[in-house]
Amino acid sequence: MPNYVIGVDLGGTKVEACLMDSDRNIHTRNRAPSEPSLGLDQVIDNITKVIETAASGQEFSAIGMGTPGTYIPSEDKLYGSPHTPIYETPGFIGLLRSRLDVPLVIENDANCLALAEYYAVCLGKYSHIMAVIIGTGMGYGLILNDKLYRGARGGAGEIGHTSIDLNGRLCECGRHGCAEAYLSGSSIRKRYRELGGKDLEAAEIYKLYQVCDQPAMKIFEESCMIMGELFANIINALDLQAIILGGGVSNIPLWYEKVPQYLERSIFGPPRDKIPILKAKLGDSSGVAGAAYLALREIGALEF
Ligand SMILES: [Zn+2]
Repeated sequence: MPNYVIGVDLGGTKVEACLMDSDRNIHTRNRAPSEPSLGLDQVIDNITKVIETAASGQEFSAIGMGTPGTYIPSEDKLYGSPHTPIYETPGFIGLLRSRLDVPLVIENDANCLALAEYYAVCLGKYSHIMAVIIGTGMGYGLILNDKLYRGARGGAGEIGHTSIDLNGRLCECGRHGCAEAYLSGSSIRKRYRELGGKDLEAAEIYKLYQVCDQPAMKIFEESCMIMGELFANIINALDLQAIILGGGVSNIPLWYEKVPQYLERSIFGPPRDKIPILKAKLGDSSGVAGAAYLALREIGALEF
């Protein structure tokens, strides 16, 4: 008789849930709008409804949830969620817990991506990886020595807020030249507005790149170089074996075609195999899958 858990992926626009058994099989999956603009009560209603629908009457033992920002267990609170500041409200997580009958475990959404991809493609092959979500913003998750690495406070891996140019673009965090101020979906969009004069999504700007639009070419050539340098920095620091990209902006093929050449030329240290840059294998189900693994760990069915 398998033991069941729920995985929840809470995003800025949607909330998704899945029902998973202790052998890591997903049985049901569904999503709904998260509606943060309608207030916390509505967000909590949306989360509990999506859980109930995913469970479809099946009993379950724990819930894992991936969220933007950093979860601090001692305060039971989220920090650093600039695109959805309402999630940082004190008491939000406590209120959600009070509506649930089973333990709730919370982790950053990029850490969930890292966990999901670790089990999907890295197990037995790569023990040291970084997973990167490239969407409106960027998020990072680290698996080191086959374990999820959170750092002292849960904020490990924020390499996007390292500067690649001390006099560079102003980042949302207040620093100059952060890689994220060039590479996130909103940054690419902003750079094209400045250079090409139009407000377009990263995917549309990539289409213009393909027909040799000059501003789009400049932005993507520069972005591939910056991404290569950024990844080389963290590989030099942590001696990683693979990098995995997820999130909407990760669908742009250029990252896989061009970034490796910049990366390879900037890696320092002993000879090693080429570091692959891989597209998330589980696609858009990696968020809920990684979150459900948190719950499996909670019930003792998984160790990481
Ligand atoms: Zn920054």
